[in-house]
Amino acid sequence: MDEDNGDKKNKSPKSTMKRQFIILIPLIILSILLPKIAFAYYNKVLSIRVWPSEEYVRITIESSEYLNYKSFFLETPNRLVLDIENIEIDSTLIKYIENLEITNSYIKNIRIARKNLNSLRLVFDLKQTIDSQTFTLKPIASYKYRTILDLYPTVINDPIKAIIYNQKEYRNNELEETIMNLIKDNDHYNKKITNKKIIIVIDPGHGGEDPGAIGVHGTMEKNIVLSIAKKTATLLKTQNHIVTYLTRNDDCFVPLAIRTQKARLLKANLFISIHADAWIKPETNGASVFALSNDKSSSIQAKWLADKENKSDLIGGVNLYHQDEKIAKVLLDLSTTAQIKDSKKIGTILLKELEKISKLHNKDVEQAEFAILQIPDIPSILIETAFISNPKEEELLNSNQHQDKIANAIFNAIVNYFKIECNSN
Ligand SMILES: [Zn+2]
Repeated sequence: MDEDNGDKKNKSPKSTMKRQFIILIPLIILSILLPKIAFAYYNKVLSIRVWPSEEYVRITIESSEYLNYKSFFLETPNRLVLDIENIEIDSTLIKYIENLEITNSYIKNIRIARKNLNSLRLVFDLKQTIDSQTFTLKPIASYKYRTILDLYPTVINDPIKAIIYNQKEYRNNELEETIMNLIKDNDHYNKKITNKKIIIVIDPGHGGEDPGAIGVHGTMEKNIVLSIAKKTATLLKTQNHIVTYLTRNDDCFVPLAIRTQKARLLKANLFISIHADAWIKPETNGASVFALSNDKSSSIQAKWLADKENKSDLIGGVNLYHQDEKIAKVLLDLSTTAQIKDSKKIGTILLKELEKISKLHNKDVEQAEFAILQIPDIPSILIETAFISNPKEEELLNSNQHQDKIANAIFNAIVNYFKIECNSN
């Protein structure tokens, strides 16, 4: 099997990658007209979504039942083939795939190679060898069965990502040295770095399949927080003694454990997860800052919120291949008392900055059982920038100016916190 029988349909590479989305209307009418037995073995494809990023490309095929699929590589030229059998596929879906633009540094093109009413062959023309993972997620929330195809580049330009994906065993100081050398040599982290540099990891919540909270006007938390995170990183780049790293740069899904793992690998001095809140009452408003809970959550709402934010992995779909159970267990088991103390300190400073630009939902740092804050040795806070469920605050969150203000508040808090910390040492 060496031929993918493809009709060549190369598209010109685009510099920007667009997220593409379509909902397919199931062939309900047809299924009513024809005898039921004819459809007994076929699954309806409800939707196909593509989340392209430099880190990885995720293709999600949502269907009413489990899909039967197989994927394999073909060489000269390099391509990945995905075969799906026994599905109902219509011309809208075919047209959609044919118009997909997912060109990036490792994927040249996507095309349909074999199409008939109940099978589909997708061919990815590759610029380099890639790793791929295929798995199925069970229905959750509004989602049905999702067949996920993740495509990872094997040659990674970002040294931190390379370490994370290669998952090599390092001894502690060996790892630190390796990371520092890699950062030093990489233009991406432009400035010279010594062990005395302050490393800030900013974590824009949610992403990809997981939109986070959604406002009445359709604003998605994942987009707002990514924008605020990028603005904050830009401000921090002006500081020679600070190196900033984002857990995601694109609209893609990153498991919670990978986000915290990134912070740990970088030996970050501070981890900030950025979110936007939601509550059942539309008038609820204001920003809040959270640290990890020592024991019980400090309010019912905090507990509810922790449950909601922790569900991200189930909605976005955790790729087990990139999970490190050992690290996750250690993270949960280790004592976090000192971390919480420092987190509350920076949290208090941040609240003072936020008070200048917006309403506060709570004047004190709240504490909750957030999985994302369970990092034993790095001060970690979660900021709920405003309530996206409040129409007025949704509008604010959408405004470029207000996003700048929030980024500025986070920036000021970070700079002030480390000024205090350095002086007291
Ligand atoms: Zn969130």
